[in-house]
Amino acid sequence: MKRVAILGGGPAGAFAAERLASAGLNVLLFDEKLAWEKPCGGGLTHKAYSQYPFLIQNPTPKRFVTETVLSAPKSGPVTLKLDDPVVIYSRFDLNRLLLERAEHAGAQIEKTRVSEISRQGSRWRLRTTSGNADADFCIVATGARNPLRNVATQLTASDTVSALGYYVPGDQANIDIQFLPHLEGYIWIFPRCGHLSVGIAGKGEPASALRKRLEHYMLERGMSYQHGSFYSHLLPSLDTASWKNNRVAGEGWMAVGDAAGLVDPITGEGLYYAIRSADLAARALLSEVSSLAEKVKQYRASLQRDFMSDLEFGSRLAKRFYLGKYLFGAVPARMVQFTRRSPRFRSVMQDLFSGRQSYQELKTRLLQNLKGSLYEIVMSFGFSRVVPRKAG
Ligand SMILES: Cc1cc2nc3c(=O)[nH]c(=O)nc-3n(C[C@H](O)[C@H](O)[C@H](O)COP(=O)(O)OP(=O)(O)OC[C@H]3O[C@@H](n4cnc5c(N)ncnc54)[C@H](O)[C@@H]3O)c2cc1C
Repeated sequence: MKRVAILGGGPAGAFAAERLASAGLNVLLFDEKLAWEKPCGGGLTHKAYSQYPFLIQNPTPKRFVTETVLSAPKSGPVTLKLDDPVVIYSRFDLNRLLLERAEHAGAQIEKTRVSEISRQGSRWRLRTTSGNADADFCIVATGARNPLRNVATQLTASDTVSALGYYVPGDQANIDIQFLPHLEGYIWIFPRCGHLSVGIAGKGEPASALRKRLEHYMLERGMSYQHGSFYSHLLPSLDTASWKNNRVAGEGWMAVGDAAGLVDPITGEGLYYAIRSADLAARALLSEVSSLAEKVKQYRASLQRDFMSDLEFGSRLAKRFYLGKYLFGAVPARMVQFTRRSPRFRSVMQDLFSGRQSYQELKTRLLQNLKGSLYEIVMSFGFSRVVPRKAG
């Protein structure tokens, strides 16, 4: 293989470029903006930086947050201590860090927009705003708004979520997560270096309605959105049926990150999956198997094994998680109450935040813990003198 073209230089494209260039391939990365403040919370979980330690071992400014305050209607707030901090970057800084690493590894980086790619025999012809280029293989990393119709995931309206918010002046030590009535999503406040990122994401609700909900919330908390800088973007959130036919790779190409729809349908976490999928794509391309078709097959299989089946499972839980009822109350409210009153449940929540707890194993863990959690909840109401201590 003479040349790999990488279309898009966000976290997914930049990391794939670094991996492939480090292995000695001729890598050409195209991005129309290069490092930019992509609308994003910028939060990285323990799952991401424990597997890719360079994400914390670098001099780039970042925040380490060890507390999250969760709130839901009718439940009030609860503070959840995080044993594994969430690390928060500005996206300009994170993108620049990753692009610099790619360049240092030997990737050639060009600031230009790719407008079209077409097959010419077994090669690719790329049309960009600054001319044409050829490549033997394409990594598609153009994000959720991929303009190239012939490659990567085809997101329908029901496979996306509107995500929007404001960067506002301010500082706080903790992350805030606020659940809202009848919303398949949530509001967040992320403390960043020098400002706060306050945002909302919700499935099935138009951006204008989400914006109203967010502005109402900010006003209630005395936060002035008028002096903030507004941001909005699409977030992939694949419906369960869409995972089955998700177009993650094809003849001569692999899609990574948002362009492949690889975002957690419950939390909206996408940075880890962008980096992880880029790593898996690079490994497949560099693998021993000789034919490109085999490498593509290997990428599909490794994605499925590594995390895609868990994300698919998560998509089945999402509606129940945000809109379902448990013990006559809304699930988010119960979750906040259980977090407050049960140390076992709190530990499940900590593992969910750090990425240690998969969705596929969540139900079993919750069921195993149920008796103990309920016991802890009853005890927390001060029944210790009337209920004999038996449950394990
Ligand atoms: C509001 C919001 C908040 C979020 N918060 C978090 C969070 O806190 N934590 C988290 O883990 N995830 C979060 N996400 C998700 C996360 O932002 C994405 O999953 C992540 O950016 C995906 O990385 P990527 O490299 O696949 O795509 P992107 O970061 O979107 O990068 C795509 C790149 O491709 C370039 N590009 C696109 N088209 C072309 C073209 N035709 N030619 C050349 N270049 C092109 C763009 O300029 C861009 O740089 C959030 C998303 C949103 C919308």
